[in-house]
Amino acid sequence: MAINRAWHEKHRMPKNANFEQRVKWHMEHRKHCQCRPIPAKLLEEMNAKGIKTP
Ligand SMILES: [Zn+2]
Repeated sequence: MAINRAWHEKHRMPKNANFEQRVKWHMEHRKHCQCRPIPAKLLEEMNAKGIKTP
């Protein structure tokens, strides 16, 4: 799995990130880095709220 360290350095997940922050972070993350997928739990929540993942 490729990790984009430079991106991670600049984009830290905030502590106690709320749902929207996590969604935003993962949306950006997957464009720039493939070190890990969006967690299934978060995907479920996104689906429940009708947020589409491209
Ligand atoms: Zn990453």
